[in-house]
Amino acid sequence: MIRNFARNVGFRPRRLVRPTTPEQLAGVIRESERVRAVGAAHSWSPAIVTDDTLVSVERMHEVVALDRARRQITVQAGMRLRELNAELDRQGLALANLGSIDTQSVAGVIATGTHGTGRDFRCLSAQVARLELIDGTGQAVTLERGHPDFDGAVVGLGALGIVHAVTFDVVDAFQLHDITGIERFDDVIEHIDEHVAGSDHFKLWWFAPSEEAVVFRYARTDRPANDSRVRRWFKERVLAVAVFRTLLAAGKLSGRRWIPAINRFMTGQAGRPLERVVPSHVGFLTPVPPIHLESEWAFELADARALLREYRRLLPDHGHSYNFLQEIRFTRADDLWLSPAYQRDSIWLSLYNIDRRYPEQLAKFEAFAREHGGRPHWGKLATFDRAYLRTQYPRLDDFTALAARYDPQRKFRNAWLDAILDG
Ligand SMILES: Cc1cc2nc3c(=O)[nH]c(=O)nc-3n(C[C@H](O)[C@H](O)[C@H](O)COP(=O)(O)OP(=O)(O)OC[C@H]3O[C@@H](n4cnc5c(N)ncnc54)[C@H](O)[C@@H]3O)c2cc1C
Repeated sequence: MIRNFARNVGFRPRRLVRPTTPEQLAGVIRESERVRAVGAAHSWSPAIVTDDTLVSVERMHEVVALDRARRQITVQAGMRLRELNAELDRQGLALANLGSIDTQSVAGVIATGTHGTGRDFRCLSAQVARLELIDGTGQAVTLERGHPDFDGAVVGLGALGIVHAVTFDVVDAFQLHDITGIERFDDVIEHIDEHVAGSDHFKLWWFAPSEEAVVFRYARTDRPANDSRVRRWFKERVLAVAVFRTLLAAGKLSGRRWIPAINRFMTGQAGRPLERVVPSHVGFLTPVPPIHLESEWAFELADARALLREYRRLLPDHGHSYNFLQEIRFTRADDLWLSPAYQRDSIWLSLYNIDRRYPEQLAKFEAFAREHGGRPHWGKLATFDRAYLRTQYPRLDDFTALAARYDPQRKFRNAWLDAILDG
């Protein structure tokens, strides 16, 4: 049985294949009736589900080339982000922006438009300069930025082919000056535009229904790191993980009664005033969380204040409680057809929880998201209404046509993809 990280998806493929070369990968695709690719299985969406052939390129995880002059690195697509970050660090380089964890595969993060935060920074897929894949007919295809299919292929949902190598644009290694604190959520909402404009990477955690929010401000800097590894290990591996997990368990056991009090306490813990300088690939990350469910949608940044006012009321409405943090992030527009930030600077609103009423909460959150022109994160939970998706992803029909060209026998299709592409 294959299970994803959150264990909300489980299935038995007919076979799991781990090719070690592009030629073997092409052979697997040619001889299979239906194929899905899996990375680190960190998506909440059932994107990887198949009853036939599941392909993992995890054995293909080497560095292929480093081009210092062009500031580009090419790696095999089964590499985990953690390995990529470590290699870049050794070379005095870094990815310009990252999400909250580094255990996903390179191919997986770019296929879903995985993102971090920062008004001037795009999702990880937008840092890709070239893709090498095997399409549904077993043909090798290389797509560089500028190729007419490139913007459609990067956030590819595993629909066009199985990617085996990726070239990323990189930057010189840098540190993050991290200033964390707590502020009244209402005050932050009223001045959200200034907050977002005021730091390179700004994000919020909200332990609903707390009155306060944890405010993270990160400035990019060349100043040397000043945070000790021991302190980091203690705070991020021991304290954060142990305290957070214990409190979540207590919240669950209390039948939700203690959750508001626990969440106020957690706000104080997570938002303890902190000022430190850390390497970027450390500062962007948060401790790996316990098992929970996630949905996250991207909205027009210009609407941030009005959206946040409503979101703040929406979540606790009808007595719903949230035994987890909510995360609010910001990214710059890009041109990738299926990126939730396609041609739109974005604010990302989340629905994270450990609660058996999650389906009810998700339905309420999705209704809000659709009413406000939200676009779902492909790696997280969402129900699809294709007519609605077409209004939000203007290139969706073009993507469907591209998928038909790269995969004429619909080998890469599964029910999840059909719901997005056919409705
Ligand atoms: C704890 C946790 C924290 C997270 N934090 C963030 C975050 O900060 N920001 C964010 O945006 N997301 C976040 N995510 C979501 C995660 O980044 C995405 O779901 C990502 O796609 C997972 O990568 P993966 O390698 O596990 O891919 P999988 O989940 O295995 O696959 C995802 C998609 O990629 C396709 N795929 C995989 N390999 C290939 C390949 N070789 N060729 C073609 N297609 C392929 C699959 O078919 C599938 O459609 C988080 C997830 C978890 C569990």
